[in-house]
Amino acid sequence: MTSKNTAIHENGVSPKLSCQYEQTGLKLAQEFQSEYKQQIVWRKVFQFILLHIGGLYGFYLTLFVCSWKTILWMMLYGFASAQGITAGAHRLWAHRSYKAKLPLRILLMIWQTISLQTYIYEWVRDHRVHHKFTDTNADPHNSKRGLFYSHIGWLMVKRHRDVKIKGNTVDVSDVEADPVVRFQRKYYLILVIIFCLCIPTIVPWYLWDEDIWVSWFVATMFRLTFSLNVTFAVNSFAHKWGAKPYDRKIGPVENGFISFLTGGEGWHNYHHVFPWDYKAAELSAYRLNCTTMLIDFFASIGWAYDLKIVPSEMVAKRVQRTGDGSRKFKIKQSTLDKSCHNHQESNVWGWGDIDMKYEDVKSVKHYNRLKEANQ
Ligand SMILES: [Zn+2]
Ligand SMILES: [Zn+2]
Repeated sequence: MTSKNTAIHENGVSPKLSCQYEQTGLKLAQEFQSEYKQQIVWRKVFQFILLHIGGLYGFYLTLFVCSWKTILWMMLYGFASAQGITAGAHRLWAHRSYKAKLPLRILLMIWQTISLQTYIYEWVRDHRVHHKFTDTNADPHNSKRGLFYSHIGWLMVKRHRDVKIKGNTVDVSDVEADPVVRFQRKYYLILVIIFCLCIPTIVPWYLWDEDIWVSWFVATMFRLTFSLNVTFAVNSFAHKWGAKPYDRKIGPVENGFISFLTGGEGWHNYHHVFPWDYKAAELSAYRLNCTTMLIDFFASIGWAYDLKIVPSEMVAKRVQRTGDGSRKFKIKQSTLDKSCHNHQESNVWGWGDIDMKYEDVKSVKHYNRLKEANQ
């Protein structure tokens, strides 16, 4: 298993020259990108407009009309749906950064269904393609096309053909092999009707006599509008504003505000460099990272295991070689690696990607409990 970077060196091209090739390649890619004509899918545009109108009305009802019990219910239900994405579709299924026993996989599958962000299999495929071909034509939400496109616009236009062509080269057989994922795919519509639309609306009406329409607009429409936009913010804001301590040549950044909103998914520069780390962040403390806290809770009862962590020496080496200087490590001058790097080094989708460097695979630490990692 050799990295692409190493392969270039083995072909006899100097690191300096390979950097020049890289820049020329990027220029060509940008020129080619302008050829892409975006075709609007009006049905989806109207769906999103309706959702946002309903969501805004739900926000008004949240502020001035509905019971505090309905607000609390909406927040708890929203938290579960967010964890279905972050702990489930993202860190478990897309990146394989930890393993989960059957009860946890079923729970996360139901929570992911609440979010209305397509079924897990498709979510994972899109996300792996995003990591593998970040900010190119093959990236479903290529952030080089602007903030609106990477946030929500990409869902309202026909995709670039490269998303499908290159997407077919990304392996998702492990996800397809999971019976929980297959079950969700088969019964997705009925699961959405039950868990995403009916239960959140009916519970406040049935248990504490909330008006059924207030319940619909607050616990379903506002919750969905808010949680969809928060997830989209990782693709837009966390690819735009923030530092790049781990790899200065890639688009993703470290953004504390997005981490706060998403339960720890805004440490995005680190995450794109080390997507197999179950914390999706460098620091072991729960810094704006309640998803890590939740995975650790499930690890403590034995439902989550094989938590993967990148050792700090590995992080330090990478920071020193490819970071933007905003993260400081004390490293001996003699151990510094000054070789050139290109952005493709970070184009790995997670644990199991055949392009992972051998030293990265070898250095990963596997824990079943966070306590072990802190010893
Ligand atoms: Zn990811
Ligand atoms: Zn990203």
